Order: sequence, then structure tokens, then C-alpha cells
Amino acid sequence: MFAKVLMRRIGNIQFTYKTRKLSSKPRLAIVGSGPAGMFACNGLLRKSNFLVDVFEYSPVPFGLVRYGVAPDHQEVKNVINTFDAMFEKNRERLRLYCNVKIGQDITFDELTRGYDAVLLAYGSYKARKLGVPGCDSKNVISGSDFVGWYNGVPNAPTPDLSASNVVIVGNGNVALDCARVLSTASSGSLRISDIPDERLSVLEKTATKDIKILGRRGPENVSFTIKELREQFKIQEWDSKLEISETDLKNLIESLPKLERKKKRLTEVLVKNTGTTSGLRQCHFLFHRVPKEVVADSNGMVRELVVENTETSKTETFPCELLIYSIGYETLVLDGVPQNENKMIDMKDHCRVNINAECPAHVYATGWCAHGPRGVIVDTQQQSSFVADQIASDFIHTRHSIAPGVDLVLNERKVPFISWDAWKMIDQQERDQGKLSGKIREKFTTFEKFLSKRLE
Ligand code: NAP
Repeated sequence: MFAKVLMRRIGNIQFTYKTRKLSSKPRLAIVGSGPAGMFACNGLLRKSNFLVDVFEYSPVPFGLVRYGVAPDHQEVKNVINTFDAMFEKNRERLRLYCNVKIGQDITFDELTRGYDAVLLAYGSYKARKLGVPGCDSKNVISGSDFVGWYNGVPNAPTPDLSASNVVIVGNGNVALDCARVLSTASSGSLRISDIPDERLSVLEKTATKDIKILGRRGPENVSFTIKELREQFKIQEWDSKLEISETDLKNLIESLPKLERKKKRLTEVLVKNTGTTSGLRQCHFLFHRVPKEVVADSNGMVRELVVENTETSKTETFPCELLIYSIGYETLVLDGVPQNENKMIDMKDHCRVNINAECPAHVYATGWCAHGPRGVIVDTQQQSSFVADQIASDFIHTRHSIAPGVDLVLNERKVPFISWDAWKMIDQQERDQGKLSGKIREKFTTFEKFLSKRLE
């Protein structure tokens, strides 16, 4: 009985754990090292006795904090210090496996056999497609690809920034991040940030002089947050305005007394910044523009976006040599994870996944992969802390475990990964290299030389 209990099968490998002590602690796998996973991890390490392994798809940790947060919002990236302290303080209980793809290197099924609990926190990383004729033309890119490129995502394609006219589709914060970075790059103000040098040199030469940010609905429906919106209006040498109809302006003003505080303050900023742009560099916020077609030249390069103006029922054409569509993300469900009719993870409640009875592990999900790509980091933090409480309380009476983790599978398959110690070495080298040119860090964009050699 004892030996049988201690036998586990992962993939083609049979493990027998005769030597494993019954006093070993329950094991948790976290999929994703972005804010959702790391805030939950922090809570769980404090509230439970779990041994935790964190799996990250990218070669380096922290997901959107490293690759999504804008380079001029370094204060938001300071949250990395909290995660850093968490890893250092819990070296005995917490391990990091970057460059390990769940669903590819390790299947979800294998993960559930290797751990007592699995927490899915892998976010949403696939941009929603624009889906109009011509949208595959050259220099039509998603906001998330543009953000990933300037933030140093390995192998991100370089956009052509020689464009003078840029159109950005979408009224969310990613659209604002793209517009702000394009509007400020040539001033040199991003030189001290963490944009990799080779990408910064392209960005700083941008010829952009005219940006149009298009909303498909009216100004009352924007998804911007106030801080990011104000930042765009404050950029020197740029005239940024909402160019809206009298009807829209009247409706915005009349709505003010009925709005709750947050929305009211945002609407006041919108109203205050209406007008017509002028000057050498202009950013126009335009509404009721539904994209219909992308027109390219004979080289396949984008030249125009055709839209329907739903306020006037007219067709309009905006010239552009760079088109960024920033219209949200698709939520991906990893192979093997239960999926509902909306193609989202099938959740039983706010944090438990609706797994079948045979699944050997408890499975949870948090953050964007669980509830869709919404909210800023503070929202994620609150949700993750709640999920950590829930998992800790589910395991309050489970002090022992025989779950083997997946080390042996990774070894057997020779999956090269970057551990916490390897990341700290990269981190230090990036900081040291950045210091030489007065930057916060010089982000590396290739990591081959750091990938674990132990498996060769
Ligand atoms: P988002 O906030 O969901 O905005 C997506 C925008 O795309 C909406 O304006 C939406 O319009 C529009 N849209 C969707 N489908 C469209 C279509 N087919 N044609 C035209 N427009 C379309 O998405 P996001 O900007 O990617 O941001 C995702 C989340 O990350 C948000 O919660 C955001 O606040 C957060 N974020 C925060 C920061 C920050 O804190 N600084 C920075 C970046 C991102 P409708 O409203 O009409 O659907």
C-alpha cells in the first residue's frame, strides 16, 4: 500500500518515491510569473506551507510587468522589488522555471499529476485581430506587438516608424501607451528607461507628426483611465484634442452630474480637452469610426484606413503609413484545460476550474486568463490575494504530499530553463550594462547563453 501510493506516472515516466518523506509539504504549480501569479504566490507563501514551482513561457520572469507596462511608467515596474524579495526570502520553498511552455514542454495533464494544486495565471497574450479586408498589409500591427517590441520581447518584428501619419484603432490604455510612446520618443525622454538600445534608436528616429486615435463608439464609452489620458494631453510640442460633434459635447456635459466620481473625473478631462488640433504635431481623438478596410500600395504597405462614420453615415479615409490596432486580447485556454462555450476557462466559481473528477490536482485560475483582459495591476493584486486565501483555506488540513513535481520530466526531455539564480545573474548584468549609459537597465533580447546547461 505504501509503495503503491508513492508511485506516480508522468508521461512515459514512472516514478517511485520510496525515499520521499511523508512529511513533505503540498506542492503547487503556478503557470505564469506575471502580476496575477506572483501576487497570489506571495499570499500563499505567507498563508500556507506549500512548496511552489512557477512556470513561465518567456525566458525571463514577470510577464506584463516586464513586457507590457510602458517604459515611462517605471514606478509601476517597482512591483518587481516585491517579487524579488519574495523569491529571495523563500528560496527553500519557491522555484522558478522560465522558458518552460505548459502545453508544449509539459502537458497540463502532466502538471496535474506532478502537483497537489495548479494555479493558472498565464494572462492573455494573443491580440484580438482587426479582421477587416487588407488588415494583413505591411506595417499594420497590433498594439500588443508594438508594446512588446519597444519593451524588448525577444524576436519581436521591427515596425517601420518612418511614417508621418499613424492611425491607432481602439480606445483603451494600450492605445494610449502606443500613442504616448510614439509622441515622446523623439524628445529623448525615453533614453533613461529600459527600452533596449537597438529598439530605442529606431523609436527615437520616428517621423510621426500626426496620430489619429479612433473609437468605434462615442467619447462616453472610452476605456481609458484618467492618468494615462492626462499624460497624452500634457505632452509638450503635441496638440492633443478630442475632435467631437456638438451633440457629443453636449451629451458629455449633461451626463456629468449623474456620473459616479471616477467616471465623472475622466469625463471632465475629456470635456476640457475638446477642440481642433493645430501645430506641427497633432493627436486627434476621433469617435464613431468603425474600421472597414485597410488599403495598401503596390508593395503591400499600408496607405489608408477606410472607416464608416456612424454619426454621419459617411465613409471616410485616413491616410496612414503605420496602423496600430489595439482592440483588446483574446483569452487562450491551454490544451487540456476545461473550456466553456465562450471559449474561456470553464470556472466553477470565482477561482476554481471546473475539472473532471479524475483530475488528481485541485486546479485554480486567476487574472486575465480566468476573467478576461480587464483591469490595472491593482485590480489584479486584489483578486490574486483573494484567490491565495481560498487556496490556502482549501489546503488547511493537507500538510503532506507525495506529488513529485516535474523536475524529472524536464530532465528527461532536456528542456532548457532559466532558474531564479540564472535570472538574478541576467538581472544584475542588465542593470550593470544599463548603468554605463545612465539607463535603468539594458534589457537583453536573447537568452541562449543563460539557458540551463545542466541538461546537455
Ligand atoms: P481595452 O481596455 O479592452 O480596450 C479595447 C478597445 O478596443 C475598446 O475601446 C474597444 O471598444 C475597442 N475595440 C474592440 N474591438 C474593436 C473593433 N473590432 N474595432 C474597433 N475598436 C474595437 O483593451 P486594452 O487597451 O488592450 O487594455 C487591456 C487592459 O489592460 C485594460 O484593462 C487596460 O486598462 C489595461 N492596461 C492598463 C494600463 C495602465 O494601467 N497604464 C496600460 C495598458 C493596459 P468598445 O468599448 O466599443 O468595445
